[in-house]
Amino acid sequence: MPAIGVLALQGDVREHVRMLQEAGATATAVRRPAELDAVDALVIPGGESTTMWKLAETFDMLQPLRLRVKEGMPAYGSCAGMIMLADRIEDGIAGQQTIGGIDMVVRRNAFGRQVDSFESDLDFAGERVHAVFIRAPWVESIGADVEVLGRCEPGDRIVAVRQGPLLATSFHPELTGDVRVHRYFVDMVREL
Ligand code: GLN
Repeated sequence: MPAIGVLALQGDVREHVRMLQEAGATATAVRRPAELDAVDALVIPGGESTTMWKLAETFDMLQPLRLRVKEGMPAYGSCAGMIMLADRIEDGIAGQQTIGGIDMVVRRNAFGRQVDSFESDLDFAGERVHAVFIRAPWVESIGADVEVLGRCEPGDRIVAVRQGPLLATSFHPELTGDVRVHRYFVDMVREL
């Protein structure tokens, strides 16, 4: 069983731990560099990306996280976690930093002006899933190495992407009880 950590600085950690266990992984909360060293892969949960960034700096986790991602550790970011995995962001706060790794521009609170939170059915990697969006970002643009795994109305926006060992979704599969997105990630970790 792969050992997958859930970054536990802030956000919906417990739900991801439960889903990963259901998907066949060993899951633990990761708050410190030593805990990060002990896992094969990492889930970065939804929450609030500015808070997560500041706490990552406070806990001396930002550089270790960047290093592991650079070394090829598989990671999956949902919502605020997607923002954390983006090389570039729009509508961040002044000085906001990310871990990076996925060659994309992500716009924070992108659906905000139309609908703060909503649910929608969409195709994720060829499977129909029910997706929950909460003050969600969308992917504004992607580099050549980024694969689009899902799009959503309004606007046919990109809401799920993969670049090598890195996966990101704008939505929160940990809230639906549907384990397929987590299983997709666990399979990715097994294959890499
Ligand atoms: N809007 C949040 C942010 O900017 C993300 C929302 C979420 O993760 N549900 O980080």
